[in-house]
Amino acid sequence: MYDVIIVGARVAGAPLALRLANGGLRVLAVDRTSFPSDVLSTHMLTGDSLERLERWDVLDEVLRSDLPALRRIVMGVDGFAVNIHAELNPYPAIAPRRSVLDTILADAAGNAGAELRTGFSVQSLICEDGRIAGIVGRDRAGNEVVERARLVVGADGRNSFVARQVDAPKYNERPVRAITYFAYYKDWESSAMETYVQDGIAAYAFPTNWGLACIGGYWPVAKLDEVRADPEAAIARAFAGNPFVAERFRRARRVERIQGSTGTAAYYRRSAGPGWALAGDAAYLKDPILASGIADAFRDADNTADAILAGYATGGTIEEHLAKHEERRARATAAAYALNDLVASGGLTREGLLGIQAAVRGAAEARHAAKAA
Ligand SMILES: Cc1cc2nc3c(=O)[nH]c(=O)nc-3n(C[C@H](O)[C@H](O)[C@H](O)COP(=O)(O)OP(=O)(O)OC[C@H]3O[C@@H](n4cnc5c(N)ncnc54)[C@H](O)[C@@H]3O)c2cc1C
Repeated sequence: MYDVIIVGARVAGAPLALRLANGGLRVLAVDRTSFPSDVLSTHMLTGDSLERLERWDVLDEVLRSDLPALRRIVMGVDGFAVNIHAELNPYPAIAPRRSVLDTILADAAGNAGAELRTGFSVQSLICEDGRIAGIVGRDRAGNEVVERARLVVGADGRNSFVARQVDAPKYNERPVRAITYFAYYKDWESSAMETYVQDGIAAYAFPTNWGLACIGGYWPVAKLDEVRADPEAAIARAFAGNPFVAERFRRARRVERIQGSTGTAAYYRRSAGPGWALAGDAAYLKDPILASGIADAFRDADNTADAILAGYATGGTIEEHLAKHEERRARATAAAYALNDLVASGGLTREGLLGIQAAVRGAAEARHAAKAA
């Protein structure tokens, strides 16, 4: 019998497992994948991600992973560009490959004392007396395995199996606005994370591990058929039509296959109930245009851990603490959620860009002041 079973051990599940294990709970984290492995995602880290990595004692390992640590995150719209990386921010801008970042986090969860089982696919939840009481899954060898816990957390991503099993309702939904295709290139010359919107199409490039850059484009969903027909040509057109990157793109060489997402419909999900909870994309999903999913998953892991640990400490009111966390999450993210939807809908303007710059700087100043206090 575990205190908590976590389904999904990436950027939401692994730090949650780490925090709960550090808090003295008996934790099992399972993932059907094995590490190191990628997941469909680009991987620029925003917000307070690096501060959290430092608190979880894994930042140095991430920074040592043959990764450029930069001081500029440049965003542009229709010929106007600004650096949104706050000068006050003590941390660099980084974009570690998910195979690197997720593996470091999963290992850290294991080192903290959580039991980690990979190659383990959850196939159903045990429900007893109206409560979720455990999982039934298949291990790597194909054996059926039953495990019980007081709480099962779905940190199992955008198509959350746990959410579907408990029938967790979605709210404040937004439709698919945009699509993205990307690949890894060598010979990309840059010392910044860059995203430039030109005529409603974004060209982006993030230097990442092993001398490569993640390079891709964003298009309105109405262009899906045209872009999907030849994503590589569409990326080339997005860069050729953009004065900030056209020249450099001609010298870059693609070295991995093209990957793509044909859209992300945004939502919040009811994320706590009897014996279950949701964290990360399973609980709160939005279009990746502003690269906030990992930062949001990190914050959610911390706040979900705080709620669970507080519930255990006060003797059995975990669901109440989790419900309060869900309310706070919805309130704290409302403005960012609306902005994300606006930008994904092609609504980024110069004023909007300056607003994003001011918000990022304001948040860095607030964190700086809080640290100094
Ligand atoms: C195209 C694209 C680009 C993006 N770019 C960025 C970016 O630049 N920056 C950023 O911050 N965010 C970005 N995001 C968002 C980011 O990828 C997500 O927000 C983040 O991965 C959510 O993490 P998670 O841990 O909640 O879920 P995931 O990372 O999806 O992990 C879920 C895990 O659950 C496991 N799982 C699922 N079901 C089961 C089951 N039944 N049994 C066992 N295991 C299971 C899966 O194997 C998986 O490993 C992007 C997303 C997309 C689609």
